[in-house]
Amino acid sequence: MTCLLCVIQLLAVHPVAAQTVRLCAVGDIMLAGEIERLMTKKGLLYPFARMQPVLKGADVTFGNLECCLSTQGKPIPKQFNFRADPSEAVVLKQAGFTIVSCANNHAWDYGRDALLETVQDVERTGVVVVGAGANRAAAHRLRVITKNGLKIGFLAYLGLIPALVAESETEPCLSMASVESIRREVASAHDRVDVLIVSLHAGQEGAPSATPRQRLFAQTAIDAGADMVIGHHPHVVQPMEMYHGKPIFYSLGNFVFSVSGRGSGAMIDATLTRHSVHAKMIRLVLTDNAQPHLPESKHSRQPTRKGFRSQSPLSVREGGLRNSRRRLQPHVSEEF
Ligand SMILES: [Zn+2]
Repeated sequence: MTCLLCVIQLLAVHPVAAQTVRLCAVGDIMLAGEIERLMTKKGLLYPFARMQPVLKGADVTFGNLECCLSTQGKPIPKQFNFRADPSEAVVLKQAGFTIVSCANNHAWDYGRDALLETVQDVERTGVVVVGAGANRAAAHRLRVITKNGLKIGFLAYLGLIPALVAESETEPCLSMASVESIRREVASAHDRVDVLIVSLHAGQEGAPSATPRQRLFAQTAIDAGADMVIGHHPHVVQPMEMYHGKPIFYSLGNFVFSVSGRGSGAMIDATLTRHSVHAKMIRLVLTDNAQPHLPESKHSRQPTRKGFRSQSPLSVREGGLRNSRRRLQPHVSEEF
């Protein structure tokens, strides 16, 4: 199995000994349907069993929860509606997740009450939710995880249109992406944390590379002060991009999503300090028993250029916010 590895290192102009945080991030997690039946038969943790040591081994572990966990609501009009039992929320904590995004196109599959129940079910287990909440302000709220003396901030956006459940000032909703909201919220969050990460659920399913809209949102986040963008939704791994010295991982693909092992998936293994982001992306093996895992043999972990073509920067705007406040002098190294 192919393993992809890319190392991005951003060094401070005046590096100092600093606290470090190990961050792990994975893509889409869907606990309904065939995955739910598998967990009922083999145990809740079964899909996560082979990755649990890795997920728990990180200081902060992020994933995209691509379903609702609720007994409420009715399916909204769309092709696929994913809903799992609320009792399964605890598996995210047990598997090792610290924070999950619900800003995606399935957390709203059973309407507003089911969405809010999902957020509450997950947070009750001790896992933080970003990108959804009781109203628009809650959905767009910066979530901060303090670990090893570092404040790691997360914002999350759904970058697909149209919104099937509209944002509301008074009712449960998701955080929808717009250039204006990303620019404003990222800029506001930047000075409140040591490292700012933006989760972006966007792009085209199955597409080998990012769409212009996906790139616009991601690059807007970096321009406004984000230190890294973690993307998902296409169900396949897409090439990453260094943009103004900051990594954009356009799509980590699937993590626990189907029992067919379809699509592809990758994991980010990053070390964060106040002055640096050092991240590598490792291709995961997706199996037909829904147990993603790291490649096993040393040979299979040899990285390849395939899938890591650096995309040429997109000129997003005139006079956009430049990421100059956190003065990093980027040094990019790629190991192939
Ligand atoms: Zn999606």
